[in-house]
Amino acid sequence: MAVIPGDGVGPEVVSASLPVLRAAAARAGARLDPVEFDWGGERYLRTGRAMPADGAEILRGFPAVLFGAVGRPDVPDHELVWGLIIGVRQALDLAVNVRPVQSWAGVRTVLREPDGVDLVIVRENTEGEYVGVGGRAHAATAHELGIEVAVHSRTAILRAARYAFDLARSRRGRVSLVTKSNALRHGYTLWDAVVAEVAAAYPDVECEQVLVDAMAVRLVQQPRDLDVLLCSNLFGDILSDLAAVLAGGMGMAPSANLLPDGDAPALFEPVHGSAPDIAGRGVANPVACMLSGAMLLDHVGLPVAGRIVRDAVATALRDPARHTPDLGGSATTKELAAEILAVVESST
Ligand code: ATP
Ligand code: MG
Repeated sequence: MAVIPGDGVGPEVVSASLPVLRAAAARAGARLDPVEFDWGGERYLRTGRAMPADGAEILRGFPAVLFGAVGRPDVPDHELVWGLIIGVRQALDLAVNVRPVQSWAGVRTVLREPDGVDLVIVRENTEGEYVGVGGRAHAATAHELGIEVAVHSRTAILRAARYAFDLARSRRGRVSLVTKSNALRHGYTLWDAVVAEVAAAYPDVECEQVLVDAMAVRLVQQPRDLDVLLCSNLFGDILSDLAAVLAGGMGMAPSANLLPDGDAPALFEPVHGSAPDIAGRGVANPVACMLSGAMLLDHVGLPVAGRIVRDAVATALRDPARHTPDLGGSATTKELAAEILAVVESST
């Protein structure tokens, strides 16, 4: 697999995660051979590019990529975010973003009774409000305009929807489609129609349509009932940060970017960014990165290893003395990672 630690807390959480992933793979009788790339902000300052021009092609040689985070205060965000992670997602056409959210015993959250949340947000990853179509006009007049055109294609909706229904089949069999077709009458009515067609091909999967505002309420009030949420790019972006809080925050939120049925490598990354406010202090929570690694292990055909990582995380987190500051504890990145590694190594 390819590994891009990146910037800020990226290298801290990646270096804490790799021994755990390696040990879990070994327990499952497999060997991981990570190949590291120094892509990111420092490389940008040195060479003017966050990654080589053929970076995406280099990654094609690997079955999967583990990515830390990119971004640093002294480089404009778009140079690094577009020059690296969004560039890679687009070049590899990683059309679907997958973000599991679950409760962890021992981890306190905003919920009164946190136990029992177990849902996955499947987010269309390439279009919607994020296509960059539009413009600014009548600058510095009283009629100044900013126009943002949302684009939704049948192809992209189908890719995300089929992935969501397949996933629901392997889980509790429920898809909640999140749109806003009562007010946005073109793009989101296409979502409703295309997803209804897909739903007809999955009679064993229950499908409901929920408006995004109602879903925001449900995520807070009754998240336990939710299984797979199928979302557009914008709604998935917003709801997955909300949902991450139900698991304990950004330090607990893993993700995958993938092209279902395609031949591109999938890219796994913690949802959080480079966290410049805590970078270098050794206190970042490594769990989001480790759980991303567990998804990677599942993806490369080592689900037993993925399960070992998740079980070890669950075991370690039951003890609040192991929690990093974002979870209300005082453990360091290395202390929590060492505990998780010890649990993996003692697992049978
Ligand atoms: P970027 O522009 O790279 O996305 P950001 O500051 O916008 O950076 P994050 O890096 O995700 O966003 O940080 C948001 C908040 O969450 C920060 O206060 C950060 O300290 C916290 N945070 C992010 N990741 C972690 C982590 N792994 N452990 C603990 N706290 C974290
Ligand atoms: Mg951010």
